[in-house]
Amino acid sequence: MAHYPYLIIGGGMTGAAAANGIRELDDAGIIGLVSAEPEPPYDRPPLSKKLWEGKKGVDEIYLSLPGNVQPHFGRRVVALDPAVRAVTLDDGAGHTYGRLLLATGGDPRRLPFGGEAVNYYRTLADYRALRADADRGASFVVIGGGFIGSEVAASLRKQGNAVTLVFPEAAIGERVFPARLAAAVNDTYRAQGVAVLAEATVTGIEAGADGATVTLGDGRRLTADRVVAGIGIVPDVALARAAGLAVDNGILVNEKLQTTAADIYAAGDVANYPDAGLGQRRRVE
Ligand code: NAP
Repeated sequence: MAHYPYLIIGGGMTGAAAANGIRELDDAGIIGLVSAEPEPPYDRPPLSKKLWEGKKGVDEIYLSLPGNVQPHFGRRVVALDPAVRAVTLDDGAGHTYGRLLLATGGDPRRLPFGGEAVNYYRTLADYRALRADADRGASFVVIGGGFIGSEVAASLRKQGNAVTLVFPEAAIGERVFPARLAAAVNDTYRAQGVAVLAEATVTGIEAGADGATVTLGDGRRLTADRVVAGIGIVPDVALARAAGLAVDNGILVNEKLQTTAADIYAAGDVANYPDAGLGQRRRVE
């Protein structure tokens, strides 16, 4: 068992930024960093853009960490007890903390079918798997018209792969673009050779030895070697909820990122904070 004056749960961009921020204020205190991913923290946006454009290599996306960080990579915290300021990891190890940051982010929302045949694109491991499929010339059905769906579809198509993009809205990026601009984005993707299937819901995915069949709400059946989905994330609040912290579309924090438990903070995709400018709570991914 170790005692960490600072313990960060979550080795994503938020966890790395927090470690560096702590070190600016305390040049000595040891920081424990627990991450379910087996890799050190890395910059996530390049996974759907720069790595595909050749503007960066995987080795260039890792984030720098300050000194005196004790990593626990490839490990999950399975229990948090605020009363005794202790956590338990999935290897059975227990650690205590002075102050704790929950930077647990979110998990990809999953479809109720398709199982492991679907790449729910979020991590470096997902990138490596998709890259291997793309490099062998696979064809793809990409589900979701948001950030992941649109960026992955564009990246795959630029590699020369056959891509069908399926989403429920009328246009790609409809939630963030004005309607006419979103419609023009549809046209641009089609001009680049992406089969854009707007206003289409997915009702089933069957995986076979030679690829997958995706069934749409109107009965159409699409075949492809692989399926990728980017249909949003769900904030990972399980640990916070089990520990009795207030949770409502994320972990509730105040303007100092303090949760409802003493010396436990939350930040990043998982934090639901009071936005002074908007005068209301929000959670920003
Ligand atoms: P997203 O941008 O929220 O888009 C999800 C899309 O999937 C929406 O268009 C949504 O439509 C659709 N959808 C929801 N349920 C569906 C279903 N059952 N079948 C088909 N489509 C469905 O989420 P995302 O693209 O998955 O991205 C995940 C996170 O990564 C987001 O937080 C995003 O901001 C982040 N990201 C960041 C970057 C970056 O460079 N910073 C790049 C990529 C992704 P409705 O609107 O109708 O629900």
